[in-house]
Amino acid sequence: MAEHLILWWQVHGRRDPLQKPWMFLACGAWPEADQQLDPYGIWIAEVMLQQTQLAVALPYWTHWMATFPTVEALASASLDEVRLQWQGLGYYARARRLHEAASMLVGRPWPRDLEGWMALPGIGRTTAGSILSSAFNEPLPILDGNVKRVLARLTAHPRPPARDDALFWSWSEALLDPVRPRDMNQALMDLGATLCTPRSPSCERCPWRLRCAAYASGDPRPWPVTDAAKPLPFQVIGVGVVLNAAGEVLIDQRLEEGLLGGMWEFPGGKQEEGETINTCIVRELQEELGIAVTVGDELITVDHAYSHKKLRFVVHLCDWVSGEPQPLASQQVRWVLPEDLVNYAFPAANARIIEALLGRLDSSAHP
Ligand code: SF4
Repeated sequence: MAEHLILWWQVHGRRDPLQKPWMFLACGAWPEADQQLDPYGIWIAEVMLQQTQLAVALPYWTHWMATFPTVEALASASLDEVRLQWQGLGYYARARRLHEAASMLVGRPWPRDLEGWMALPGIGRTTAGSILSSAFNEPLPILDGNVKRVLARLTAHPRPPARDDALFWSWSEALLDPVRPRDMNQALMDLGATLCTPRSPSCERCPWRLRCAAYASGDPRPWPVTDAAKPLPFQVIGVGVVLNAAGEVLIDQRLEEGLLGGMWEFPGGKQEEGETINTCIVRELQEELGIAVTVGDELITVDHAYSHKKLRFVVHLCDWVSGEPQPLASQQVRWVLPEDLVNYAFPAANARIIEALLGRLDSSAHP
């Protein structure tokens, strides 16, 4: 099976330096089994690809490598600069962990075993295996979402892969080519990403279709089996875009721990039962910043789904009445000119609020 897969991959794999530049030698060639690659670019790419598709991650990777071309450059940048580069990729803890790991790696040789990589923040077994097999051709298996899907279909596995982790690892290991682990892992990932896709697998082109139990069943799409999804909780968040007499707007930086840690945002919070949105905004800004505001027009409503909840941000323009803003529930607060908001890292939902604010200010300046 490994041989069939490698033969397929040599013709159809994603072996384009424009698609995965971190997998190529400086001369532009794919590395031979005895050649090594620079682990830095591979590590950054692997972390970006943990939750993000290749096509989305690629421009971020290119920009990142131009801004922080070495682990030393990354370690000496500020966390705010790093987060700004990550803005839009989501799962922002990854940026913080990359920065933290860079300072642990500076002045040391690159780790050459699983333990060395897994001791770094944000690196699990599959990321470590992928970095080591990609950079050094180490014979280590991987088990990312693509690989789990392929294996679950090959075997028509009757339970969610997460419940049988050890078994799936043993299958990935059994498939590993001892001489070409780098190529084999890439081939497995490419098969999952290009043919064995979640919704419309192209089995007629798959090198494994004659061995695949899901294909034999007539419809491979039900695999991998999943636990029934629970409905996501829904919350309404009242948000205040507070302007002062100088035309500056108030933003705060979230605490480092937790969802979107360290990102900047417009202040606000969850609407309580029976509360109007105006009352919610007045209360939240008093509790979080110690300020009194009057709530004005609605600026925008933004719906945003995270992996574990759905939020509706109802955003109103507010006038600052009294109280010096204090970071009672955040790291820091700042008055910023609207045109300077671009220098701060905001989560996706806030980026739409900024767009609406700039549009509103522009139309009031040029009615
Ligand atoms: S035959 Fe179809 S379901 Fe089976 S591994 Fe290939 S693409 Fe996936």
